[in-house]
Amino acid sequence: MTRPEDPEATEADEGRRTGRCLCGAIAFATRGPSLMSAFCHCPSCRRASGAPVVAWAMFPTDRLEITRGEPRSVASSPGVRRRFCGDCGTALFFESKEIEGLVDVTIASFDDPEALAPAMHIWDRHRLEWLDSGAGLPRHPELPPTE
Ligand SMILES: [Zn+2]
Ligand SMILES: [Zn+2]
Repeated sequence: MTRPEDPEATEADEGRRTGRCLCGAIAFATRGPSLMSAFCHCPSCRRASGAPVVAWAMFPTDRLEITRGEPRSVASSPGVRRRFCGDCGTALFFESKEIEGLVDVTIASFDDPEALAPAMHIWDRHRLEWLDSGAGLPRHPELPPTE
């Protein structure tokens, strides 16, 4: 049911994905497939996100469009730029001189994060031990029962 004259249908064909930060001040869109996706266990991602692990999807930089707002940035290591929302702090983008022309986007900030499942773990030597050892712990769909 694709109509070529319909711009939205064309965007869908190109695999356009949208996302935003928690407060909505920053919004973005990517086009085309992710080149790679991974859980990153490195200490920098951990601190930058305040979370034990960060899931990233990689895109060519020219396939990322910031559609609203202006992210702030920090050089977390030499040659590395992390961009985030200056209002709410959501971690959004990672770029490094070592992967020039590519940008990592936090999968959790996409509107449909289910569509971008991580394919591997990277920097696994930094993985927090309890992240996996917690596999056998009780799982609650939401909050635990009060008694
Ligand atoms: Zn925000
Ligand atoms: Zn990392």
